[in-house]
Amino acid sequence: MKKLYFIPGSQDLYGEECLKQVHADCQKMVDFFNEKLGDVVRFELLPTVETSEICVEDMKKVMVDDDCIGVVTWMHTFSPAKMWIKGLQILRKPLLHLHTQANEKLPYDTIDMDFMNLNQAAHGDREFGFILARMHIAHQVVAGYYQHEDFLAKVKQFCDVAKAIDWSHNMRVATFGNNMRDVAVTDGNRLEAEIHYGWEIKYWGIGEIVELSKEVTEAEIDQKMAEYEEKYTMATDRIDVVREQARYEVAFEKFLKENNCKAFTDTFQDLHGMNQLPGIAAQNMMAKGVGFGPEGDYKIAAFSAILQKMSEGRKGATGFMEDYTYDLTPGKEVELASHMLEVPAQLAASKPEIQVHPLGIGGKSDPARLVFDCVEGDGIQVTLVDMGDHFRIICADVELIREPHPMPNLPVAHIMYRHKPNFEIGTAAWCYAGGAHHSVISTALNRSDIAMFAKLTGTELVTIGDDTTEADLQKFYM
Ligand code: MN
Repeated sequence: MKKLYFIPGSQDLYGEECLKQVHADCQKMVDFFNEKLGDVVRFELLPTVETSEICVEDMKKVMVDDDCIGVVTWMHTFSPAKMWIKGLQILRKPLLHLHTQANEKLPYDTIDMDFMNLNQAAHGDREFGFILARMHIAHQVVAGYYQHEDFLAKVKQFCDVAKAIDWSHNMRVATFGNNMRDVAVTDGNRLEAEIHYGWEIKYWGIGEIVELSKEVTEAEIDQKMAEYEEKYTMATDRIDVVREQARYEVAFEKFLKENNCKAFTDTFQDLHGMNQLPGIAAQNMMAKGVGFGPEGDYKIAAFSAILQKMSEGRKGATGFMEDYTYDLTPGKEVELASHMLEVPAQLAASKPEIQVHPLGIGGKSDPARLVFDCVEGDGIQVTLVDMGDHFRIICADVELIREPHPMPNLPVAHIMYRHKPNFEIGTAAWCYAGGAHHSVISTALNRSDIAMFAKLTGTELVTIGDDTTEADLQKFYM
């Protein structure tokens, strides 16, 4: 179980009795968070910062603990912030600053200066806020009474984002083959991606999977086929074609596990030794949280896995998507998005069918794939691009809808959605911002989740939605 360390701030000015009360109140707060959010992360109390040395010791503990995904701070009393400087210089994990109190209401009848000295977050949290701002430390502030539902929801949101950032720092992507066919947006600076986000982008030849798949036993394939048959409806009699996908998936799973990879890419240009492009194999793995990027897109492979981690336990679905084509009927504009094969199974609204169809491009055998209708409702489309001197996240609010007419000849899973504030501004904004054709669609995450991730990872963020205007479009040239 991942954990957050809770570090309260105070000082030794107020005496032993006051510090005991600070500790007791903080323990009560930690117990409350564990009761409410203990299934997401564990909260653990560290010694109250009374000196610079204690702060450094606390932050050292944060940094060497692999299970720790971040820090929660709260200034119960005033805590002179110079003594936080050296500790904060060590901290390289997400920071949540609670601006709260042990008490909800003021005890008007009994309040005296002892109460004022003990309960002065309004004073101490401002001092702490200043040093964070002065040191340019990205952090999240949540203000309010800690037992209120909306406050708790924001703490939970921070937990989800901190888990995703931890996932990012431990992200290793297996790229089989390279960036494909001169595509620009799928490429970028892998070195900078590792420095900035922690992504180890490893290269292997697809021959590794070809060799491994030769060693996959019939029993292993039987087991994988049983998994497919349990989850999906077999709508083909070409079982051997499906078994070939099962063979690939077993091989991919073994390879990723052995090499500790959380995401992978392939390219349909480089499938030497394989009969089919991995279809179900990729779709089924994505549904288990494995990141996938087609055409060598290591950024979307990593980013989709990270956003799936962020949405863990929430209602809705999150997965990779590609922009394809539009219905431009005036006032009813809608986008049809899909991929040539690899649409993640977690986006399915109903039980997917296993079908076999020819693939128009790539020159390989007919691949088996999952075909299904996707989820509907309010969601976001989000992507991450490499601008050369920085990364940019683009997040657009969208409305996923049921297809207005059946498309019986379309042999792939697909979604349809409307742009916001409308087609013209929404899609133009995406183009101006340099948004990729590969993205992540989510009905589980929202703009504020992505904004928090962008802030805490120091990433530029462009948002598109009902608040986007014609004038905003010109901002993206910078
Ligand atoms: Mn693509």
